[in-house]
Amino acid sequence: MITSSRMKGLNPYVPGEQPKDRVYIKLNANENPYAPCPAVQKAVIDFVQAQPQKLALYPDPDSNALHAKIADMLNQTGGVLCRAKEDASGQVSPDPADKIPFTVTPDMIYTGNGSDEVLSFVFYAFFDSGKKFVMPQFTYSFYPVYAGFYNIPMDQVPLKDDWTLDTDEMLARSKNNGGGIIFANPNAPTSLALTRDQVRRMIKQANKDEIFIVDEAYIDFGGESCIPLLQEFSNLLIVRTFSKSLCGAGMRLGYVVASPELINIITTVKNSVNHFPLDALAQVAGSVACENPAYYADCARKVVEERDKFYNFLKSRGFYVLESKTNFLFARHPSIGGQDLYQKVKEQGILIRHFATPGIEDFVRITVGTAEQMEDLKKAIEKII
Ligand code: PMP
Repeated sequence: MITSSRMKGLNPYVPGEQPKDRVYIKLNANENPYAPCPAVQKAVIDFVQAQPQKLALYPDPDSNALHAKIADMLNQTGGVLCRAKEDASGQVSPDPADKIPFTVTPDMIYTGNGSDEVLSFVFYAFFDSGKKFVMPQFTYSFYPVYAGFYNIPMDQVPLKDDWTLDTDEMLARSKNNGGGIIFANPNAPTSLALTRDQVRRMIKQANKDEIFIVDEAYIDFGGESCIPLLQEFSNLLIVRTFSKSLCGAGMRLGYVVASPELINIITTVKNSVNHFPLDALAQVAGSVACENPAYYADCARKVVEERDKFYNFLKSRGFYVLESKTNFLFARHPSIGGQDLYQKVKEQGILIRHFATPGIEDFVRITVGTAEQMEDLKKAIEKII
């Protein structure tokens, strides 16, 4: 055989579809419906026009300027954009409950080519083939893919009947397994969040010498960030992304917030795989995005407003809908299956996501778009139900 023996076990991740047969309203990949802020658009154009020779050179391998900007943005916003406020002078500050009780410094940031790549390096660095790590049964479906890729055994803990994480069971199993924990908060595709106090309680009881990973891809839409807990727990590692609240899925920018010691470990993995995971344009675009938190806070608030309106609409139509703290809704209807609903909505030119996974196959996951997009989806659903 021409392939390595490793190829046999590979089971790749399936992203939201991008069909080309017609123009669709795309509500299937939890992207942000808004473009990056005008300053980002201008910075990218200026970079290409004024410094094209820089495209011929390798970018900064460690994205140092970007790390400083990310740290600044987190300090200004508290890491939850939808609650960050801008005053009359243009100064952005966090909601008091979100304020980080220390200063996030650039050496606490690692960036990679989307949080997918970041997660891959984190799995490599902190989970071990000799010990099972713990994750919820239904969570981001790339985690099991990495477990397979790196040959790391996993222990998937069922959710409770109300679709929340069974934190006690996760903790008990992780103490027993000794291989660390990962979950998304808010979780995907369920959209439900644990409070910071719930996570604190978990980490307090977890083994101190094992990694505790919280994936905050959707935190800017209303959850409570665990960044403040970094001063209490040196085994905590937080993964975040520009793909959702920072309108940047096309730029492929993800990051970690953790102690400088953990950041150095991930950097060692990066330098053993790809020295330059972020291209020069992504570094510029990401840096300028971080200089404009007020714009992104507004986008996040618009998404939250549409989400809550659409939640009420779905409820009024008889759907069972989980209380989302994200930019998507996870819902099922008693009279139509998830696959059927997905298909009938697609026939009307709108893409939503259906997972054929047993246990959640009755649900659809609907990304929250603009008011106009949600109006179109509403009309499409009204024709079906
Ligand atoms: N974590 C979670 C929970 C996600 O839903 C996603 C998006 N599919 C990611 C990470 C990856 O996002 P990205 O690679 O675009 O940063």
